[in-house]
Amino acid sequence: MKKTTFKIEGHKCRGWKCECGEDTLYTPDAQKILILNKIKHGVSVKVGELGESLIIRFPKEFVEAYKIKKGNKVMLRLKDSNKIEISV
Ligand SMILES: [Zn+2]
Repeated sequence: MKKTTFKIEGHKCRGWKCECGEDTLYTPDAQKILILNKIKHGVSVKVGELGESLIIRFPKEFVEAYKIKKGNKVMLRLKDSNKIEISV
């Protein structure tokens, strides 16, 4: 087994290449890529209610990927008639 770096969906993934031709991925890297890929394609969340306000929650994949914490400020911006951009 030889240490190597693979390119998956544009991301680097460490792993090993065997002489038999089989590749083994380093699990933490592979999992990170899966999560990034998932959030790139979008995650649907439901609009809730808190008092008089409507609220949405950040899925944990976003919280971890963007290191969002309670008290952080985010910027909401109109992107389109049906799109809102959130900058963290
Ligand atoms: Zn092998």
